[in-house]
Amino acid sequence: MRTAGAGTWYETKRLGDGITLIRESHVKPFYRCNIWHVRGRDRDMLVDSGMGVVSLRDHVRLVCERPLIAVGSHTHFDHIGGHYEFDERAVHAAEAEILAYPSRRNTVADRWVCDSMFAAAPVNGFRAGDYEVRAAPATRLLRDGDIVDLGDRHFEVLHLPGHSPGSIALWENATGILFSGDVVYEGELLDDAYHSDVADYLASMERLRGIPARVIHAGHFASFGGGRLAELIDDYVAGRRRQRCPAAEIR
Ligand SMILES: [Zn+2]
Ligand SMILES: [Zn+2]
Repeated sequence: MRTAGAGTWYETKRLGDGITLIRESHVKPFYRCNIWHVRGRDRDMLVDSGMGVVSLRDHVRLVCERPLIAVGSHTHFDHIGGHYEFDERAVHAAEAEILAYPSRRNTVADRWVCDSMFAAAPVNGFRAGDYEVRAAPATRLLRDGDIVDLGDRHFEVLHLPGHSPGSIALWENATGILFSGDVVYEGELLDDAYHSDVADYLASMERLRGIPARVIHAGHFASFGGGRLAELIDDYVAGRRRQRCPAAEIR
């Protein structure tokens, strides 16, 4: 594998509304997580932190400009690898244990991390087989209904288990912006990780249907609007109902 070097690892794109998308350029699109930076009056918020194979603080100046809370949408390796670099770290209580004691198994790195997920290596000598998430115990445990307060912006925690037990979305009612993590994105949704639960996922989707989101910034792939959110929810729910009750299709 060719080595990219740390200097080109991250790319940033300002999207307006004080939101910047940060991506790991050399992780292939299917695997790479969207890292979201939100500028607040009193402090900033980072939603997810990528794999942590290259320092965000050293290479993305934006994340050092203000006090910052690093929120984990959930604790899969692609979302929390960089959390160790930040003093304030928040995650849903149901996955606090994983953030504090990450392993290749409990972060699903054992299933997904392989050389072929990288277009180039982050540093010389990098081996996917040795990759591990560093421990970063939460300084704040989130529960449904909690508010992440940036001073002028307020994000409500929606606990939406299914993909994983502590999956959350962050909802800004004032703007209609929703950070959806891996609960919903423009791609095949995963509900077969070791701690996934399809019944929980279906219930979370029904709840999400009631959120009047205008813009959805997801954990992977491109952002989309409220109409597309409804379609993605419908597709998932219909797919799982078919699996559970195939006869319903024939009638
Ligand atoms: Zn995930
Ligand atoms: Zn993910």
